Amino acid sequence: KTTTKPPPQPSPLRNSKFFQSNMRILVTGGAGFIGSHLVDKLMENKKNEVIVVDNFFTGSKDNLRKWIGHPRFELIRHDVTEPLLVEVDQIYHLACPASPIFYKYNPVKTIKTNVIGTLNMLGLAKRVGARILLTSTSEVYGDPLVHPQPESYWGNVNPIGVRSCYDEGKRVAETLMFDYHRQHGIEIRIARIFNTYGPRMNIDDGRVVSNFIAQALRDEPLTVQLPGTQTRSFCFVSDMVDGLIRLMEGEHTGPINIGNPGEFTMLELAETVKEEFGLASGKQDQLHRWGWGWGHLKKYGMHKIVIKHESRMKLAEGILLINPEVEIKKVENTPDDPRQRKPDITKAKELLGWEPKIKLREGLPLMEEDFRLRLGVAKKK
Ligand code: NAD
Ligand code: UDP
Ligand code: UDP
Repeated sequence: KTTTKPPPQPSPLRNSKFFQSNMRILVTGGAGFIGSHLVDKLMENKKNEVIVVDNFFTGSKDNLRKWIGHPRFELIRHDVTEPLLVEVDQIYHLACPASPIFYKYNPVKTIKTNVIGTLNMLGLAKRVGARILLTSTSEVYGDPLVHPQPESYWGNVNPIGVRSCYDEGKRVAETLMFDYHRQHGIEIRIARIFNTYGPRMNIDDGRVVSNFIAQALRDEPLTVQLPGTQTRSFCFVSDMVDGLIRLMEGEHTGPINIGNPGEFTMLELAETVKEEFGLASGKQDQLHRWGWGWGHLKKYGMHKIVIKHESRMKLAEGILLINPEVEIKKVENTPDDPRQRKPDITKAKELLGWEPKIKLREGLPLMEEDFRLRLGVAKKK
């Protein structure tokens, strides 16, 4: 039988008059992609003080440049697998490498981060009486046998595979959250995040959206991993941050799926990136010289045009780049790659009044400037 203890009282320090109007918020992993966007949003509220804790494994101070030195902001280099003593009201616990190549790089460290890191943040939440939100993942559903995935689905996860340090690590982190909640009365929130994209994504972390955009801007072939029919559902980062804050501020523990239900195969994603970046980034000019506009090509369908006017097309330097055979390169996949993934967001809609606003086609172009700047690729005239 489980006993539910009352929530611990906030520390006397936090009860002092000075703090009553202010909210002190800890963001672990705040120098990372989602974390830094979350920090931007939290800092907009002048009542918030934000402390970021990060070991800079995959994150960067650059992502927080505009806040360094701000009186309501503090950045601490710290590894969450070590105990941490700070006084805070809320904890957004994001610290964990999120891309397969980084979490597989040192799998033992990944599982320590998920298990010991989450245990430490729960110990901290217990000591100071803070509410804690864990960014869990759609990977807890593994290679799902139920589609789309509701929160009630228990998942289909390989416990001994190369992704397990991450999938099983997050599953244990969720278990710890609920055990601290039931046993110690800690106020918990669990978000199951689905693939998220936007500016500041790590360019070299091998995730599909950042790979495709970097490849398109460098005029390299887009590497679609086999079979290419596997699906993902991509959520723009501002929608994600909005969902996380609503969950933290709301009354529901979760787990709640936060993601965009728009589902795409990797081949469709490659085509979309090509359309948004390939032609938009200057190749249009060559087409114009031939009297073919992008609208023109779209009207007839890219494939047909390329085949029908092959001889003419071959003469134009840039035009081959719109030929799907040339631009998309099929490459080997990695083990245990989930074949399909799409969130059921009924709970987020009903309990948080949240749903994503930004469609993939609207979100992808919002990454262009940031990626050009970091890749050093100028816009073609
Ligand atoms: P990210 O790699 O950009 O950010 C993670 C941050 O955590 C980095 O700044 C990294 O340096 C830091 N970190 C890693 N290990 C740490 C440790 N031991 N101690 C302190 N800091 C540490 O990844 P992201 O995409 O911003 O992901 C943030 C969170 O969201 C992660 O928990 C991830 O599992 C979850 N998530 C992300 C996605 C996605 O599509 N981006 C999907 C599902 C879940
Ligand atoms: N912890 C921490 N900061 C705190 C309080 C606890 O990092 O402010 C760590 C602590 O070192 C421990 C973990 O959180 O490893 C769990 O703490 P808890 O008090 O729940 O368990 P215990 O210390 O009794 O094992
Ligand atoms: N993928 C791809 N090309 C790439 C990188 C990834 O086709 O250059 C595929 C990968 O096989 C997977 C999907 O894109 O099916 C999403 O991979 P990612 O690493 O972005 O995230 P995951 O959802 O697997 O954690």
